[in-house]
Formats: sequence, C-alpha cells, structure tokens
Amino acid sequence: MTLSNKLSDPRLFRQYAYVDGKWTHGDGNREEAVFDPATGEALGHIPWLEPHQITGAVDAAEAAFVHWRALRADERCERLLAWYDLLQANREDLALLMTLEQGKPLPDARGEVEYGASFVRWFAEEGKRTFGETIPSHIPNAALGTLKEPVGIAALITPWNFPLAMITRKAAAAMAAGCTVIVKPAGETPFSALALAELAERAGIPAGVFNVVLGDPPEVSRILCGEDRVKALSFTGSTRVGRLLLEQCANTVKRVSLELGGNAPFIVGPDMDPKEAAFAAVAAKFQTAGQDCLAADRILVHESIHDEFVAHFAERMAALTVGNGLEGEIDLGPLIHRQAVEKAAAIVDDAISKGATLVAGDQSQAPGENFFMPTLLSGVTHDMKLWHEESFAPVAGITAYADDDQVIEMANDTEYGLAAYLYTHDIRRIWKILRALEFGMVSVNSVKMTGPPVPFGGVKHSGLGREGGVTGIDEYLETKYYCLGALGSVSGS
Ligand code: NAD
Repeated sequence: MTLSNKLSDPRLFRQYAYVDGKWTHGDGNREEAVFDPATGEALGHIPWLEPHQITGAVDAAEAAFVHWRALRADERCERLLAWYDLLQANREDLALLMTLEQGKPLPDARGEVEYGASFVRWFAEEGKRTFGETIPSHIPNAALGTLKEPVGIAALITPWNFPLAMITRKAAAAMAAGCTVIVKPAGETPFSALALAELAERAGIPAGVFNVVLGDPPEVSRILCGEDRVKALSFTGSTRVGRLLLEQCANTVKRVSLELGGNAPFIVGPDMDPKEAAFAAVAAKFQTAGQDCLAADRILVHESIHDEFVAHFAERMAALTVGNGLEGEIDLGPLIHRQAVEKAAAIVDDAISKGATLVAGDQSQAPGENFFMPTLLSGVTHDMKLWHEESFAPVAGITAYADDDQVIEMANDTEYGLAAYLYTHDIRRIWKILRALEFGMVSVNSVKMTGPPVPFGGVKHSGLGREGGVTGIDEYLETKYYCLGALGSVSGS
C-alpha cells in the first residue's frame, strides 16, 4: 500500500517542491528518498531543486510580497485562521504522515499537530496588534512616532524532530507580519512541510507567500543566505549548522534568529519527594525518544536523595514501551536514522569508559536497527560526552551534588543555554537558582513549559531571538521611525 492510500485525503502526500503556488519537479536528476525510520521502508522521494529554481522561489516570494504586505492585517488574519482550521480538520492525516516520516508515536504526532496549529491561530491574531508608537516630540511643531513594517522575504530552515511545529512557529509569525516565506524543511521529514503547503493553498494563501524548497542543504542555504532580497533567516537546528548559517548571512546583513541545541539540566532539590521528581525527570527526558531540544540531558540530584531517586527513575524507565509509533501504546519510537543510534551507543560507551555506572538499558532488546533502548547512567561527570553534547537519544545521565552553589555551577557548565528544569518547593532556593541559571527558559516544578504565549529561545550557544509569545512576531518586523516636521503649533491650529 502506498503512503497516499493510507491517508483519508491522498492529496496531502506530495512528492514535489511547492514554489509560487505550483508543485515543482527538479530540473536535474537529483532526488532523495525518504524513509520510515521504524521499518526502514522508503516512503517516497523528493526532488532536489537546482540553484536557479531556488532563486526562482525568491523571485516568487518577492512578487507576492508586494500584494501580501498590502493586505490589511485582519485580511491576513482571516487566511491564517482558515489555514488553522484546515490543520485541525486534517489532524489525523497530518499525524500519520508525521509518524511515518519522523517515527514519533501517533499520539505525540497528534499533539504536535495541535501544538503547531496553535501557533497559526496565535500569530493570526498577533498580526492585528503590531502597534507602532507615538513619541512625545522634543522638536518644535513636529509629530514623532514609529510604524511596524514587515522585513520582507524570510527564509525558514527547520529540523526533523518537530517537522510541523517548527515550521508553523516561524511561518505564521512571518506571514502575519506581512512577510512571504521560503521554507527549507529537513530532508528526513519533508512530507509534513509539503502537506502544510497543500493546506495553505486551500486556505486561500496566495501563490508565492508560502513556498517549500527541497534540495542539497548546504547548496540551498548558501543561496538563501547569500541572497540580498531575502531579508531574514530563521533557523532551528544544531548549533554547528546555526554557526555556519550566521556566517553566511553576514555579507547581506540579514535579520537572523537561531533556535539551536539544548542540553538541559534537571535539578532536584533535597526537599523533593524522590519518586515524584524521578517520574517528572523521566517525562522530561524521553519525549520524542530523547530527540528534543528540551530533553533533560543532565539530571542533577541532591546527594541526600540520590539513591532513592535513581531507583525510582529506573523503575519508571523500565515501564516505557519501545516500538513502531503506529502500534498501540508506544512511548518511544525509533531514532531518526542509524547514525543517531551509533552516536547514542558511542556516548554511552564513552561515559562507562570514564567511570559512569550503567544502571539500566539493554540494547539487545531493541525492536529494530534504528531503535535505542532507554538507558540510565549514574555517576556522570564533566569529562564525559554525555555532559557536554546533546545525546539526542533516550540516554539519561544522573549526577549527585552537595549544595546549591555547586549545582548552579554544574548546571551552567555547558555552552548551551536553552532550557533548565528545577524541582524544589523551597521558595528561597527557587529564587536563588532561577536567577543564577544561564538559560533562556527555566521551568520550576513543571515538565510542560511551551506553548504559543511563551517567548521560546535560548542564550549562549543555544541561539538568538525568541519565537512565540508577544515578541515572536518582532523577528519579522522593522521599526520605521518618522518625524513629521513643520506642522505648526498645536495650540494655534
Ligand atoms: P541540523 O542542524 O542537522 O539540521 C537542521 C536543518 O539544517 C535541516 O533543514 C538540514 O537539512 C539543514 N542543514 C543540515 N546541514 C546543513 C549545512 N551544512 N548547511 C546548511 N543547512 C544544513 O539539525 P537536526 O539534526 O535536523 O535537528 C536537531 C537539532 O535541532 C538539535 O541540535 C536540537 O537541539 C535542535 N533543535 C532546536 C530547537 C529549538 O527550538 N531551540 C527545536 C528543535 C530542534
């Protein structure tokens, strides 16, 4: 059975790029297969566009910008809300596509469709509130103020771990601001992006406003980052690639927002119930099989409750089910590909060779070659890869600490600064640690922290800018100051 036959609406499965409102083949012979990571089966193929076709997408976005920015904000809002309605109406098909290409369990994929759609609704409304200011004038007989204007064409480059929401969180903000967008999804998960394009077209979003290009990642990004007509780049992905793209944007002095790697600490205070904290840590670690920028990568537990915490964590972890995300009650699907499994194994080996204890985790139980079994290591230290690198796998590392000052130092001992978790009910400890953590987001006594109203983003090498919230749309707006002089005196008019 082909993939399209599995969908209630087969037209949501597209194997072409989408440029200027048209489904587009590559002009050359280059294409890429897309695999189901759970089974290794090819789901379909996508063409790689040639450089002149990528430039053609910029031409289309440039032409569409003239009309799209000229619409009233409430007109753009209506179209984005129509897109939101279609995402909701097609949730089952979108979730199925996502599970097939990404591997996450179907309920998680449904959750991501909801999450992704929620940004469309949020920014549809926010577009109506891009207020400028009036400025009390210091110049005689003048009126001063600001206007908010769309920056222009935005290039959006996105990862495979959240194939839909990482696109809508950017695209809806940009489009609500009046920008046109060119999306370059990850080659592993293009079908979610292409289904979004199909639904955008049905929602009445005009040709050229939402484009999806496919191709060789370095080639596509060099063109988009080097194009003077592209005014903004928003990238979500690894810190390594984020640095490259930032450099590539220097020549054209683009607006750049970067949502990069995580390596979150999960701090557990001595006053916590070890079972409650351990269960929360399991939830924060194993979402999307650990392939999550918010994954609790370094679990730091006060020495007084460490042993009990480890026992409860291991017990809870043992109950997690691993398998094909389409089948029944599955907690963890596969990793995205074989290299991810090899990287996880190398990180575990490195930690054990440097003295960590393997508490639980038996890779011989893996149900397929792309699966990695939940693994728990204790005694993790600063010299191990598991401390410094995102494992992007279901590998949990626990470290004991003695006091608040030590745990603050440990938590900040990373180049990353995206998110941190803190579990304690002691208000003084909360305030002290919250203030000292060098992270863009700190979640206290809650695993769930994200959503449309939240300014999502990191400090240090985790990125630049914020997505979502009331400031997310600012990444796509310019402030134009005006001074209207020689107006005459107000009292005399
Ligand atoms: P990645 O950096 O390998 O790829 C991201 C995108 O960049 C993809 O579209 C890919 O095709 C493209 N790309 C890859 N190599 C490139 C190159 N040399 N030149 C130009 N483009 C290139 O990241 P990934 O493996 O897809 O995603 C995982 C990473 O994303 C993790 O580091 C994770 O923490 C991060 N992430 C961050 C957030 C956040 O909001 N901060 C959210 C999700 C994922």
